Formats: sequence, structure tokens, C-alpha cells
Amino acid sequence: MIPTSFDYVRAGSLKDALGALAAGGGTKVISGGHSLLPIMKFRLAQPTRLVDISRLDELKGIAEKGRGARIGAGTTYRELLESELLRDRFPLMAEASETIGDLQVRNRGTVGGSLAHADPASDMPAVMLALDATFNLRSKRGKRSIKAREFFQGAFTTALADDELLTEIILPALPSGAGSVYSSQDHPASGYAIVGVAAVVARKGKTVSHAVAAFTGVGEVAFLCRSVEKLVGSQGEPEAIARVTADVTAGIEVNGDTFAPAEYRRHLAGVIARRALTTALERAG
Ligand SMILES: Cc1cc2nc3c(=O)[nH]c(=O)nc-3n(C[C@H](O)[C@H](O)[C@H](O)COP(=O)(O)OP(=O)(O)OC[C@H]3O[C@@H](n4cnc5c(N)ncnc54)[C@H](O)[C@@H]3O)c2cc1C
Repeated sequence: MIPTSFDYVRAGSLKDALGALAAGGGTKVISGGHSLLPIMKFRLAQPTRLVDISRLDELKGIAEKGRGARIGAGTTYRELLESELLRDRFPLMAEASETIGDLQVRNRGTVGGSLAHADPASDMPAVMLALDATFNLRSKRGKRSIKAREFFQGAFTTALADDELLTEIILPALPSGAGSVYSSQDHPASGYAIVGVAAVVARKGKTVSHAVAAFTGVGEVAFLCRSVEKLVGSQGEPEAIARVTADVTAGIEVNGDTFAPAEYRRHLAGVIARRALTTALERAG
């Protein structure tokens, strides 16, 4: 429970942080510390230097971006929950944030830290996939943007290079009148999702014109379920929802453990997806 020794520096600017990361030599950034510190205590991570990015203004803030939004990677869950802009345009963000951890976790934990850590059971990756987010990354070498669907590569593995920081998250506008839901069945001890689903739907008249659902907790990485997209063109009737959710984990290696065996998770994913799509369609204007 005691980490190996390390140096600690607080970055004074984004440039400082990127310079420190570029120097390598076992440097890691720390934001809220809610994922990094526990794994350091278990010695699963043994950085020799921590660069604290939690006070960098460049990584803060939630702002309009066209009809979408720009969220700084260092934004805490509490700030997400307090944002009128997000409640209005992306209520899915607040609905998911409410389920995360406890007050301390939501006060300190950041959305960027969660995405960079890429825990297979964390909530935000599924939300980002469902909202078709783009992540802006920076390093001393330059800038690049990557879609959420290309960012998550495996359990605790992302497209981030060792010298890169996730700086901001760009959410494109949702289709007008879209309805969304975040729903999860959580482990009673850890509170992490056994299965979580983020769903977004929209209608044109009575016909479904947009349907996406992304899952977390099911496999080693959050994923978009392609069969749900086949709801488009239907009237969103129960039979159509049942049809597209009949096998939401097709092609996915489903996790299993003593608490929730793979067969249980597979079944649960279908049940939660059906309920989420039904509610999202009710919410769609
Ligand atoms: C008691 C408890 C309960 C929790 N429950 C839930 C839950 O129900 N659902 C859920 O989804 N999560 C849950 N979490 C996890 C929590 O969401 C994450 O720990 C938190 O969001 C991580 O953010 P952080 O700022 O603390 O990251 P840190 O711990 O500071 O960093 C995590 C990792 O990301 C890297 N990193 C951080 N910021 C950046 C950046 N901007 N760019 C590149 N790399 C970066 C760090 O180097 C580190 O490797 C829980 C955590 C705790 C302690």
C-alpha cells in the first residue's frame, strides 16, 4: 500500500507539462489522482516523477462549440454536473456523471483522467462513443485529434502516446430533438458498472432517424453496438427494439467473474439496452 518513491512537480503551464512528458524517464501526469494513486499504491504503476496538471487553466472549462461543446480534459465530474450548457445540450453527460463514485471522487476525478485511464468498467468511455466525441491531444511534437471510437484500444490502453496529453473533448451537436439515456447495473461494492449503456436516438416524424448505443463493463473495452443502428428507419416499436437488441454482445469477448459470469453479463446487456432505447425514444422530442 506504499508507492515507490517519486518526485513531484506542479506544472505551471501546459507547455511545462508537455516538456516534462517529452523528457520521459518514467514521468507521468497526475490530475485528480483517483485512479493513478491507487495503482501506485499497489505498485502496478511506478512513475519516478509525477507532474501535477490539476491546476492548469488550459485544461479547464466547458464552452459552446458551434451547437456542440468543448470540455477541457481537466474538468471534474462536479463541474460537468454543474454545467447548464451540458444539461441542456448533452444531458447524457450529467446522467452518467451522477452514477460515478461518491462526492470526493466527483469533486476531484476528471473526465480526461477517466478517459486516459480507460478502465473497462468506467462510465465515460461509453458516453463518449455514443456522443461521437473527438479528443484533442497535445505533445511537444504537436497536436492531433482522434475520434473516441479509435481512442480506446483495450483494457487500460488508449491511443495516447507516452508524451501526449488529452487536452480537450469536442462534442458535436446531437440531432435535433434527440433523446438520450445512461443506464448501468453497478457492482454493489465498487459501484463500477457491471454493464452500462449510453444510448442516443432521434426521430424524424415517427420514424427513427438516429440510433446509437455504446456499452461499458461488458468486455475489455467500451464498444459501439452496430446492431442498434438498424433501428433507424423503424417506428421504434417494441418488436423493432427487441430485434436490434437480440444479441448486443455479438463478436465481443464478454468478461466474466464470480460476481457476474459472462452469460449473466450478456443477458443483462440485452435487457439494459432494451430499456435504455425505450426510454431514450420516450425522451426524444
Ligand atoms: C472510490 C472510487 C469510486 C469510483 N467509481 C467510479 C465509477 O463508478 N465509475 C467510473 O467511471 N469511475 C469511477 N472511479 C474512477 C474515477 O472516475 C477516476 O479515478 C477518475 O475520473 C480519474 O480521473 P483523475 O483526474 O483522478 O485521473 P488520475 O488518477 O490523476 O490519472 C489517471 C490516469 O490518466 C492519466 N491522465 C490524467 N489526466 C490526463 C490527461 N489530461 N491526459 C493524459 N493522461 C492523463 C494519468 O497519468 C493516469 O495514468 C472511481 C474511483 C474511485 C477512487
